[in-house]
Amino acid sequence: MKDAAPAFDCRRCGECCQGRGGVRLNEEEAGLAAAVLGISIKELKRRYLADGSPPWDILCGEDGFCLFSQRDGTCRIHQAKPAVCRAWPYLAGPLKVESAFQEAKSACPGLRRDLGWDEFKEAAQKRHQS
Ligand code: SF4
Ligand code: SF4
Repeated sequence: MKDAAPAFDCRRCGECCQGRGGVRLNEEEAGLAAAVLGISIKELKRRYLADGSPPWDILCGEDGFCLFSQRDGTCRIHQAKPAVCRAWPYLAGPLKVESAFQEAKSACPGLRRDLGWDEFKEAAQKRHQS
């Protein structure tokens, strides 16, 4: 019998990189991101981050997408992307509230179309253990 399709398989559509706020870099992540881009932290802050104290909001372009988002759906700072981006779609909200899971499923084509909330939570646990 063929194995079931995975609960989550990113399609690199980039939809989750649209600026709805809440994507921030802390000081350590900013240092890593600057190193990945080969620029100083000062330059990183000037070009990509909101003013203020850390964690800093990552700015969005006029198209509403995070400034690190690329046209092919990949992230320019993939190796240093913030924890929230690494954890997606297994975030606290969708893991705790079923309606938030349904919203995430509507927004993210990488979540299998017939995926149920229980299976989603199991997949999150397996990922956490691996
Ligand atoms: S919305 Fe889902 S499928 Fe699209 S890039 Fe984000 S994680 Fe991947
Ligand atoms: S940091 Fe990368 S993964 Fe996170 S929202 Fe921006 S482009 Fe997307």
